[in-house]
Amino acid sequence: MDTLRKIPSGIDYLNLTGGEPTLRKDLMEIVDLLYPKAMTLEISSNGLLSERLEPIIKKYPDIKIRFSLEGCESTNNKVRGEKDGHRKKVKGLLRLKELGGKDLGFSMVIQDDNAEEAVELFHFAKKHGFELATSTLHNGFQFHKSDNVPYDRSRISENMGKLITEMLKGYCIKNWFRAYLNLGLMGKVLGHERMLKCSAATDFAFIDPWSDVYACNVRPDLKLGNLENGAWNEIWSGKSIQTIKESISNCTHNCWMVGSAKTAMRHPKYVKLPKAGPLLWVIYNKLKITFGGSINFKNYIDLNNIVNDQHVVRRSYFLNEKTEKKLQSKNETHYQRFGEFFNK
Ligand code: SF4
Repeated sequence: MDTLRKIPSGIDYLNLTGGEPTLRKDLMEIVDLLYPKAMTLEISSNGLLSERLEPIIKKYPDIKIRFSLEGCESTNNKVRGEKDGHRKKVKGLLRLKELGGKDLGFSMVIQDDNAEEAVELFHFAKKHGFELATSTLHNGFQFHKSDNVPYDRSRISENMGKLITEMLKGYCIKNWFRAYLNLGLMGKVLGHERMLKCSAATDFAFIDPWSDVYACNVRPDLKLGNLENGAWNEIWSGKSIQTIKESISNCTHNCWMVGSAKTAMRHPKYVKLPKAGPLLWVIYNKLKITFGGSINFKNYIDLNNIVNDQHVVRRSYFLNEKTEKKLQSKNETHYQRFGEFFNK
């Protein structure tokens, strides 16, 4: 808690993620402390212990809650290895809505196993008044995985295209910009460069459970400092940050996660507004869809340019084939296995 107290007020967005935040017995205290510091406070949860969020939603109805959901019941439970997970999450989120929750939704990692269900899940969420945030497979030290790789990249990106079209059909402005975010995901899945430069260490950072502050949750070499030993301002304007920013400007990982994509889409000065590029894309394609046209994805993404990812360690399992899990033990040096990976 002493570390969290050092996070300055006036932060635009704070996301409590995991691990699993609902396993924290002091989650309410953490929220009490962080809620006044941020314009938006999000809790990203697997949704299996949603009852633990009920007192939080009663007290702070505008807290943003996202539960991981990967598709229909059988797909979600298979992909996430959950028993009855889908039912618990849907029931749990509906309960949070009854209690007054205002910003509730699911988050889906679009991948080989569920790409065909993205549109269906979008409509399912919408029907219940929930949001749907999407991402795709990434590697990173914080994920404790180095073999998150899409296999049929073309099929996944095609399904993302369908989702983009659906998102542009409605009247929800948020979804129109999510459509642009999903355009970036199409590029990510195909292995392209980011559509917009990453602004890690300028617009966002990641704090790990040991109070280490990193520019992002992907590269363990981008450590800015430790919040237990130092003050936020020392870390954020310390000597190492310029070198780290240079390294970020040459970063080849090309991640396009919600945090790194949303910040890149924002206007650098007027942060509530989008940059011109995403704005014009949204206006043009929304009008096209409204007047019965379709998006010409080839204008934005080279769909035939699909990365040949030989340098990525491929998963030794896929779909129903099992593999031995390699979990890091508590006493091992943090992230030692995850220094070497490539995020394409
Ligand atoms: S693109 Fe590079 S700096 Fe940006 S989030 Fe990914 S690994 Fe971090």
